[in-house]
Amino acid sequence: MDRYDLIVIGAGPAGEKGAAQAAYFGKRVALVEREPHPGGAGINTGTVPSKTLRETALYFSGLGQRGLYGVETKLRLERVRAFAHRLRELSGYDLEPFKPLFGENLFTRESGAVAAQFHDPQAIEPYSSDLVAAPRRIVLGKKSGVDSIRIKAQELGLDLSEDDERRLLAAVKERGAEKRGLVTDEEFLELARG
Ligand SMILES: Cc1cc2nc3c(=O)[nH]c(=O)nc-3n(C[C@H](O)[C@H](O)[C@H](O)COP(=O)(O)OP(=O)(O)OC[C@H]3O[C@@H](n4cnc5c(N)ncnc54)[C@H](O)[C@@H]3O)c2cc1C
Repeated sequence: MDRYDLIVIGAGPAGEKGAAQAAYFGKRVALVEREPHPGGAGINTGTVPSKTLRETALYFSGLGQRGLYGVETKLRLERVRAFAHRLRELSGYDLEPFKPLFGENLFTRESGAVAAQFHDPQAIEPYSSDLVAAPRRIVLGKKSGVDSIRIKAQELGLDLSEDDERRLLAAVKERGAEKRGLVTDEEFLELARG
């Protein structure tokens, strides 16, 4: 059994500091955290995110043209996702798929205003996906509608009649419900071939 001089529960700012200080004095320390990432409210939910949100809001609300507190930030937002992706690779740190700005699934839809996303994006996007160079995507599943079938067919170069679309929509919904997950492009093509 492992033995420790100190076990710290919670890797927020206090826990991290306490654990590091004890280790500094040569103690054997275990630091226990229930969340997937250390940092507590300081890093993950409170201090840093709230200040980041505030500065981002200032930037987007027009100060972007004049700089932030007179300092030109020269933010290149179209690079922010690629940067986050690289950081994730290097650090092995996973981000939630719906994390603001960086999340993989931010502009991906299975249902809801699917058609609007492509034809009238400003009707549903709080900020344009172009701003952060994120692709607009649809995924297929049991909640898909006929617009998704049309968009996916076009994307994959299929020419479908209205009857085909209806038949395929029913087949996609059935497949999604059966597998309790999304219908892949390969499965969609297979269903389209009948
Ligand atoms: C919105 C907001 C804005 C803030 N802004 C500022 C600011 O500008 N400047 C400033 O100085 N402070 C700010 N704070 C306060 C600052 O974030 C907190 O004072 C600081 O995070 C407290 O650190 P802590 O380690 O005591 O607790 P926490 O940060 O809450 O960390 C506790 C950790 O313990 C873990 N934990 C809890 N129970 C268990 C368990 N049973 N097992 C395992 N792990 C457990 C939690 O998951 C968490 O990671 C802000 C807080 C909020 C909410």
